[in-house]
Formats: sequence, C-alpha cells, structure tokens
Amino acid sequence: MAVKKLTAAKLKKFEELIRKELQESRSYIDKTNQDQSKGARESAGDLSSYAFHQADQGSDTNLMEQTVMLMEQERDKIRLLNDALNRISEGNYGICEICGELIADTRLEIIPYARYCIDCTAKEEGKKRYRK
Ligand SMILES: [Zn+2]
Repeated sequence: MAVKKLTAAKLKKFEELIRKELQESRSYIDKTNQDQSKGARESAGDLSSYAFHQADQGSDTNLMEQTVMLMEQERDKIRLLNDALNRISEGNYGICEICGELIADTRLEIIPYARYCIDCTAKEEGKKRYRK
C-alpha cells in the first residue's frame, strides 16, 4: 500500500500560503501592539489618575475587549500555522489525523492548517453537539 502524501509541488504551494498567513497575523499583532501602547500613553497624559479606571468610557472598553479577542484569535492562528509548518517538515501535512486520508486541496486552500478531513470534522462536531 502506497503511503498517502501530498506531492512536493503541492506542499510547496501550501507552505507558501501558510507563511503568507503567518506574516499577516504577525503584522496585525505588531500593529495593534503599537496602537495600544500609543493609546495608553495618550490616555495616561489626559487622565493620569484614571488610567486604570476607564469604566465610564464604555465604547473604548468594548473596543479594547474586541481587540483583545481578535489578538487572541490571531495568536491561536499563529500557533496552528506553526503546527502546520511542523507537519510539512515531518511529512504528514495534509493527512487527516483521524482517518489517515488526504485532506481535500480545496479545504487546505481555505484552512491551510486543517488537521482533519471534512468528514471527520463533521463527525467531531456532531459528537460535541451530542455531548451537551
Ligand atoms: Zn478524516
């Protein structure tokens, strides 16, 4: 039985895709960090005694929470993308970790860090729903 594996050309294509997404996530985080430290300095200047009590400024707080959430998502994504790069070097990228079948190219193009094929993802999500 032949070992299931993506061709070298495909691996290279997905590796480039992953590196591109990593770059985008990292620059988003860098940019947001810069904006936040700039914002913190500005509000410290305005209201030095209230720098840590911005409860009145509801919209600012929501925006900050949203930013924190987005940053978390980007960090998660970076972790997943790095895992995917590891799988490329280990030679098991693009193979479903549950059933061992190849993950469809169309799926990897949308989610280059996917670890399961569409069938197994659906089954896993079905299980989660039942566990409730
Ligand atoms: Zn599978």
